[in-house]
Amino acid sequence: MDSKVIENFRTELYNYGYTLTEQQFDRLMKYYELLVLWNEKMNLTAITEFSEVLSKHFLDSLSIIKIIDLNKETSLIDIGTGAGFPGIPIKIMYPDLHVTLLDSLQKRIGFLNTVIDELNLDNIITIHGRAEDYAKPEKLRESFDVCVSRAVSNLSSLTELCIPFVKVGGCFIPYKSEKANEELSNATNALKILGGECEKTVTFSIDNNERTLLLLRKNIITPKKYPRKAGTPVKDPL
Ligand code: SAM
Repeated sequence: MDSKVIENFRTELYNYGYTLTEQQFDRLMKYYELLVLWNEKMNLTAITEFSEVLSKHFLDSLSIIKIIDLNKETSLIDIGTGAGFPGIPIKIMYPDLHVTLLDSLQKRIGFLNTVIDELNLDNIITIHGRAEDYAKPEKLRESFDVCVSRAVSNLSSLTELCIPFVKVGGCFIPYKSEKANEELSNATNALKILGGECEKTVTFSIDNNERTLLLLRKNIITPKKYPRKAGTPVKDPL
């Protein structure tokens, strides 16, 4: 691991507002090693080069600090977490946060359970299942202060998958790229129906890629009929 790359990474994190402890640094490095090792046996990520993982996965996940202070929040769910982005880097940097990682692919959940064990993380759980099923009242509906999601689907479908998990007064923070404004305008109807309102957006660049984070505040209880049955939110967005 290149020490210059590591130094740049520490500086970038510092500029974001993080001071990395040795334990957090060691956990991020161990996570990188596990990601690359398991990626040989299963498809977890197309990005494996050390400096790229640091910027495109770790820094990108942690850019959430630009839009919310997670030290003030208690619980967070990451929908469609895949290999743990953004949920695992967030958990490493905010050890007191109660984190739930949800994904519909069992193999990825197996990987995440190993990461949690090997990094000795607590107050973090994984769930294998579809967001549409776990957003039911008897499961995890309206249970989280914050919901995050990166690279899962377009915003109008994603709001239906994610907003039901958020408590009234909490927020959903999707990680979006250069088409964020267009996606937001296409999601106007979905947000109105589901009870979300765009409170803030921040746009910046990471590794010359544009990133936009949106803070969508949930202001009313989501009507019972949403999310619709598994597959419908993506096939037929509101
Ligand atoms: N968030 C990760 C990232 O940014 O690297 C993974 C993104 S990956 C492209 C999309 C992930 O969403 C996959 O792991 C997939 O299994 C999961 N997914 C897609 N639809 C889902 C749903 N309805 N419920 C739960 N997980 C879902």
